Amino acid sequence: MPSIKDNLRGVHERIQEAANRSGRPASEVSVVGVTKGVPLAKVQEAIEAGVAIFGENYVQEALDKIEGIGRRAAWHMIGHLQKNKARDAVRFFDVIETVDRHELAEILDRRAESEDRMLEVFVQVNLVKEDSRFGVDPDKLLFLVEDIAKRTHLRMMGLMTIPPFFEDPEKARPYFRRLRTLGEAVRLEGLVGRERMEISMGMSGDYEVAVEEGASIVRIGTAIFGPRVHT
Ligand SMILES: *Cc1c(COP(=O)(O)O)cnc(C)c1O
Repeated sequence: MPSIKDNLRGVHERIQEAANRSGRPASEVSVVGVTKGVPLAKVQEAIEAGVAIFGENYVQEALDKIEGIGRRAAWHMIGHLQKNKARDAVRFFDVIETVDRHELAEILDRRAESEDRMLEVFVQVNLVKEDSRFGVDPDKLLFLVEDIAKRTHLRMMGLMTIPPFFEDPEKARPYFRRLRTLGEAVRLEGLVGRERMEISMGMSGDYEVAVEEGASIVRIGTAIFGPRVHT
């Protein structure tokens, strides 16, 4: 079985090649190692191999790992966040990538205030019409971003999306392109907390296409850690 270190090297090589194809510096792309279903020992191994950011889908599952690893890595919440988990999410995660409604922005802002911290957030966008999955509708995106920009303890960092699953990653390309275009529109409104607008898109099966289309963050689980026991 290839080691996490070998896998990670392969991922970075492919990111480099995809960046070259689209004339971007590969240094613009960060890898989030997705650790749902991955035991602590493997997370340790990934840190030693050079992974600096991890993504978790479930607050409860993340807590043990974050306590085990401590602050040697940054932690991104990449799963759907329920209100009743907002307090723990704000305590343990560095970044929440899945803000998709005003109610959640409001509660995160309040929790961040009581923890006396600035919380970095991404807005999750749902680009699949007629689909009940999580994420804000593109028509309502600017309204939500404006709301976040006004809040005193949230910093708007960028956009995140999960396209539908396709066997052929080329089919995901229009979704990636769309998110990048939306990101550009948000940036032009001057509502982003920093100069750069982060674009989180691309997973093990399609991250090369995502990088070609402008991803600045790719979220990679199985291509680094191997198949999951559960998801
Ligand atoms: C599980 C998950 C990933 C990683 O998926 P892989 O296909 O294992 O790379 C990325 N993003 C989100 C939101 C996920 O839930």
